[in-house]
Amino acid sequence: TETTTGDLADLCATHGTKFILAMFVDLRGKPCAKLVPVEAVDELASDGVGFAGYAVGAIGQEPKDPDLIAIPDVRSFLPIPFIKEGLAVVQCDPHVEGKPWPFAPRNILKALIAQTADAGFEPWVGAEVEYFLLKRGADGSLVTADAADDSDKPCYDVRGLTRMYEHLTTVSTAMNQLGWSNYANDHEDGNGQFEQNFAYSDALTTADRVVTLRYLLSALAADKGMIATFMPKPFAERTGSGLHFHLSLTQAGDPVFPQVTDDDRGLGLSETAYGFIGGILEHAPALQAVIAPTVNSYKRTGATATRSGASWAPRRATYGGNDRTHYIRVPDEHRVELRGGDGSANPYLAVAALLGAGLDGIKRSLDPGAVGNCPGHIAELPLTLLHAVEALELDAVVAGALDAAMPEDWPDDQQRVSAYFAGLKRDEFFDWHAAVTSWEVDKYLTAF
Ligand code: GLU
Ligand code: MG
Ligand code: MG
Repeated sequence: TETTTGDLADLCATHGTKFILAMFVDLRGKPCAKLVPVEAVDELASDGVGFAGYAVGAIGQEPKDPDLIAIPDVRSFLPIPFIKEGLAVVQCDPHVEGKPWPFAPRNILKALIAQTADAGFEPWVGAEVEYFLLKRGADGSLVTADAADDSDKPCYDVRGLTRMYEHLTTVSTAMNQLGWSNYANDHEDGNGQFEQNFAYSDALTTADRVVTLRYLLSALAADKGMIATFMPKPFAERTGSGLHFHLSLTQAGDPVFPQVTDDDRGLGLSETAYGFIGGILEHAPALQAVIAPTVNSYKRTGATATRSGASWAPRRATYGGNDRTHYIRVPDEHRVELRGGDGSANPYLAVAALLGAGLDGIKRSLDPGAVGNCPGHIAELPLTLLHAVEALELDAVVAGALDAAMPEDWPDDQQRVSAYFAGLKRDEFFDWHAAVTSWEVDKYLTAF
């Protein structure tokens, strides 16, 4: 269900759009845009809009390279008057010299959707965006935006919902105006943490929505002097912020995850679904580099418990029924919930990598083993970003998913997307490793 169809100029006329944010993200998920006035909409629609790729950030370009041309995908057009009167946003596909740029995350996800179609399936994706609402205290420290939010068990606290009513309902109303079907808003398990849910859709639409929602949440929070953060683990003693994906496949419109013959594992799933799960579990260590792609990510999956009792983030690659401590939860026979990813994940790359791993499992009929303990498949999740990057470099399937938009005739002497991504993340790890933290100073200063 793509959001809209039709001509970009017509859409602007219908919605009273005066300016358009022509947006895309780099490999790190950083949203970039140019603000295009409606007077230039025909040019935007036909020729796209140019960017200096090297200035964008992590998108595989050098200063000498030809411009990235962002071509709007009209189906993603969204009027966002609740941010600024007359403003709309459209997601774009970056091109270089007339061809889709293989380092652009949206192009990578499109390539994986095409591979999924070649395998005979259509992918459906729901995403759960968790975030903290914070403020700077007088001394510059980060505190919850809701000063009264000091409960020991903040999860689902009704009082938190009414205290943050204005923010939560502004976001809910915006989601519904966009046609996303917001169906619930809750106080999450950490003080100051929230989640606002929207209906599942096709893979590309959902990834677009995650990117757009993060931007909307940041902008709406900033308007009220708050910081919305998707950072995986802002506080050591509270739960982190996940980005869970609910995935399902259909074949010519019919769901393929529910069981067709006997299911001796008891989750009501088909062999195709177990193959998909087996693929995700086998590739979990490499997947973490993509779905948990920052040094901070490993503070989330490494946590044992938090102030409120559990971290709800997986530590090992296991699967189970309706149990939120597993890497893969199976809430019902129609879908699997992949809980390894966090708020720092680029949703296009994350969905692409998860689809790649799941399809590999289906193709090889991988057996995920018994529910819960997964003999032969218990992979400890990587302890650090570096461990995850090393797993990615050894995993041809997950690396292959990142390389999915690369043309056959890509020159051998030019870097591949997966190698470039691994390099970025390795550098990020060593940047962090080079820092001397306050933890070290506290621990060692007078210890010897
Ligand atoms: N915040 C938890 C995480 O980091 C998830 C809590 C939930 O199940 O909603 O994944
Ligand atoms: Mg949640
Ligand atoms: Mg969830």
